[in-house]
Amino acid sequence: MHVRMLTGGLAAACLMSVSLTGGQAAAAAPRTADAPLAARVLTYDAGGSAEFRSAVDRGAAIWNESVDTVELRPAAAGQRANIRVLADNGWPRALPTTLGNGTVYIGRQAVGQGYDTIRISSHELGHILGLPDRKPGPCSSLMSGSTAGTSCTNPYPNAAEKAEVEGNFGSALAGRAPAVRTGVIVD
Ligand SMILES: [Zn+2]
Repeated sequence: MHVRMLTGGLAAACLMSVSLTGGQAAAAAPRTADAPLAARVLTYDAGGSAEFRSAVDRGAAIWNESVDTVELRPAAAGQRANIRVLADNGWPRALPTTLGNGTVYIGRQAVGQGYDTIRISSHELGHILGLPDRKPGPCSSLMSGSTAGTSCTNPYPNAAEKAEVEGNFGSALAGRAPAVRTGVIVD
């Protein structure tokens, strides 16, 4: 794992553990005895993601194809989203607040170096879904991030990464709060 925390005012926030109850996610439907748990719906606002918007939508769709316990949906106009996705000129990074909530930056610095925009998008969304970086790592790992090199365009989580997200949101749906890392995760 190679998580770099930025210094300054955000550092204190990095150390806080934040419970799920403060999140803005839509509440899951009540569980009945035999029914499977409904997926937790998280909204995302890609309105500030500029030229990366389609890559962000694809990244969200990949997560929806990959896991059952959480679903990412575009926020309606005027709706406050769980996840804000912005474009900027820095390195890609994520600022999770609580599980399923936070801000993602699709940084042009990495895009300019040749990294794949869809892999960046699904990787950063992975942080919001509770995944840490797993570096260095192979291209088959989504959370190996930039360590897989610019030739790696795989935007799909591997089996372990999928299972971890399923566990995070499965726990949340069952009323158990998983441990969630907060603070700035660069790359
Ligand atoms: Zn990362």
